Amino acid sequence: MEIAAKTGTGATEARMPEPELFITVSDALEYLFCPRFIFFERCLMIPEHQEKRYKVLKGRELHEFREKINRDYVRKKLNCTRKEISVYLTSHKHHFKGEVDEVLFLEDGTAAPLDYKFAEFKKTIYRTHKYQAALYGLLIMEHFGVEVKKGFVCYTRSNNYVAEIDFKQKDYETAKEIVREILMIIQRGYFPEGTKRKARCVDCTYRNICVQR
Ligand code: SF4
Repeated sequence: MEIAAKTGTGATEARMPEPELFITVSDALEYLFCPRFIFFERCLMIPEHQEKRYKVLKGRELHEFREKINRDYVRKKLNCTRKEISVYLTSHKHHFKGEVDEVLFLEDGTAAPLDYKFAEFKKTIYRTHKYQAALYGLLIMEHFGVEVKKGFVCYTRSNNYVAEIDFKQKDYETAKEIVREILMIIQRGYFPEGTKRKARCVDCTYRNICVQR
């Protein structure tokens, strides 16, 4: 898309290319927590300080933990023939980017993302973890040109338990829809519905300015 540049007299002089907008997988995680986070942060530019502090601390904690974890041991259980670590990928097709902890190339010729979570496995795969993995799957397919039928999440606080997610076509469609909605909020300033889980509003930084309480 191009935008017209106006001169001091108001005449249209040239058409400047509009910078491409990319969202991150972290944006998608915030959206899944509450879509309004995107509006407050990216449209009104009000930072979510507590959340950021939490993320930094969590990131450091995870980094220290990753130094200790035996990744080879985790991978051996997954029949992979080759792997790439900390792969930063961008989808120009869907306008999002993210860093995949590990891309595993499996014996059957497909690939899969492996994500490490500094968390316990609570007998179910959370929606956030599932769609994060699906977004990584889309990035891997676009970049490496291989099929991605599943993803893995390693829960480091449950003795490195590795949960497997089998992706269905509708999971990829939902992941793409999440990206489209975030882009729409940012580009059009569209004010989305807030989370339906009211417990999340209790400690929310935006509670005082969010009409949905
Ligand atoms: S108060 Fe609730 S609905 Fe509003 S932004 Fe916070 S979590 Fe979302």
